[in-house]
Amino acid sequence: MRENNGYKFNIPSYVDLIMSRLDSCGESAYIVGGSLRDMLMGREPHDFDLAVSAEPARVCEIFSDMRVIKTGIAHGTVTVISEGHPVEITTFRVDGDYLDMRRPESVSFTRRIEDDLARRDFTVNAMAYNGRDGLIDLFSGLSDLNSGIIRTVGDPRERFSEDALRMMRALRFSAQLGFEIERGTFEAISLLSESLDRIARERIFSELLRLICSPSPVRALELFNESGVAERVLSCRVEDFAIALVPLVESDDISRLSALLCSFDGERARDILTSLKASGRQRAVVCAVIDASKRSYLGREDVARLRGSLGADAKIALRLSVLLGRSEESILAFADDNTPCSIKELAIGGEDIIALGYGGRAIGAALAFLLDAVIRDPSLNTRERLLSLLRTREDIWKDLT
Ligand code: ATP
Ligand code: MG
Repeated sequence: MRENNGYKFNIPSYVDLIMSRLDSCGESAYIVGGSLRDMLMGREPHDFDLAVSAEPARVCEIFSDMRVIKTGIAHGTVTVISEGHPVEITTFRVDGDYLDMRRPESVSFTRRIEDDLARRDFTVNAMAYNGRDGLIDLFSGLSDLNSGIIRTVGDPRERFSEDALRMMRALRFSAQLGFEIERGTFEAISLLSESLDRIARERIFSELLRLICSPSPVRALELFNESGVAERVLSCRVEDFAIALVPLVESDDISRLSALLCSFDGERARDILTSLKASGRQRAVVCAVIDASKRSYLGREDVARLRGSLGADAKIALRLSVLLGRSEESILAFADDNTPCSIKELAIGGEDIIALGYGGRAIGAALAFLLDAVIRDPSLNTRERLLSLLRTREDIWKDLT
C-alpha cells in the first residue's frame, strides 16, 4: 500500500518539529489536503494541515509544553502553535452517515490513514506525505494534479449525495487551480445540483466568493451555468458578458461581486446577495457600485461627485463603467484625484454657517451649494473664499431658514 516514491519536500522547521515529535511518540503524522497539493504544484502552502493517528486528547498530551488550541475536538482537530505558526492537527477519521446531503451526523476516529484519505472530496486533495512513507497516493491524485483535473474520490454521485457542498467546492477548486472538472464528476453535479438547496446559504456563498475571487474564474463560471448550479444558487444564469468581466476587475470581493452581477440593476443584485446571506457592506456597496457603473463619466467633476457618494469604492464603479463601454478609459486617470468631494472636506463647516445666522434647512442647502462650487473649482476651498461666496447668495437662503 505504501509507496515511498522518493518524494522529498523542504518542510519548514515549525512543521517538521511537530511531525518528528509525533513520530517519536509512536504516532504517524502526514501532511494532507491543500498544503500537500500546493507543495506538489511547487507553490508555497499558506498553512499546514496534518493528519495524525493519535486522538485529540493524546495530541494535547504530547504537546502539553506548547500552546494548544482546541479548535474542534469533536471532529478531531487541535491547533498547535509551533514557533509562532498555527498547525492544524486532525485525527484520522471516517465520516458517519450523512443525513440530508449535509455534514455527517457523526465522525469516528481510525488508526488507518487509508480510511482517512478515502473520505476526502477530490483525488488532488486525498494524498498524504511524510518523510518515512513518502507520498501516499491511493486515488491517482498526482496524475490528476499533473493533468489539471478535479475528480471525486470514488463515485461522484455517491460523494455529492453525501455532501452537496462538494459540488461548489469542485467549481471553486477548478477556478483556484485552473483545472477542468472530470466528465463523470461534472455530470453528477449537473444531475444533483438541486440538492444544493439543502446546504446553508452562507457556506455556498463562501465557496462562490472564493471561486470568483480566484485567478481563473471564467471556465468555472461557465460550468457553474452549464451544470445548473447557477440556477440553484442565484436563481438565474450569469450572463456571458458578466463572466468575461469578472477576471478583468480587481480580485477583492466587492469588485468581483459587482462584475458578476452587473447585468442586473442594483436592487436585484442586492436581493440576490441578501438571499446568499452576504454581509451588510457587501449588499449595500455592490448595489451602489452596480447602479453607478451604468452611468457615463465625462470628466474630473463627474468623478469627484462619484467619489463623494461612494468613497474609495468609486474606483470600482468607474472601472466597471469603462468595461461596460459607458465611459472612456481615460476617465480612470481621475479615480485617484484627491480634490475635495464631500462636505466634510470643505474648508468651513456647519458651525461656521450657523455663526453667520443660518438655521434649519438652509445649513444643508448652503453646504451642498459650496460643495458643488468646490467640485467645479477646487481653488475655492479656502475659508475666506467660501465665506465670501456664501455672502453673495444670502438672499437665496433666507427663505429656507
Ligand atoms: P485551501 O487551500 O482552500 O485551504 P484545502 O484543500 O486545504 O484548500 P480545506 O477546505 O481547507 O481545503 O479542506 C482541507 C481538506 O479537507 C481538503 O483538501 C479535503 O481533503 C478535505 N475536505 C474538506 N472539505 C471536505 C468535504 N466537504 N468533503 C470531503 N473532504 C473535505
Ligand atoms: Mg486548507
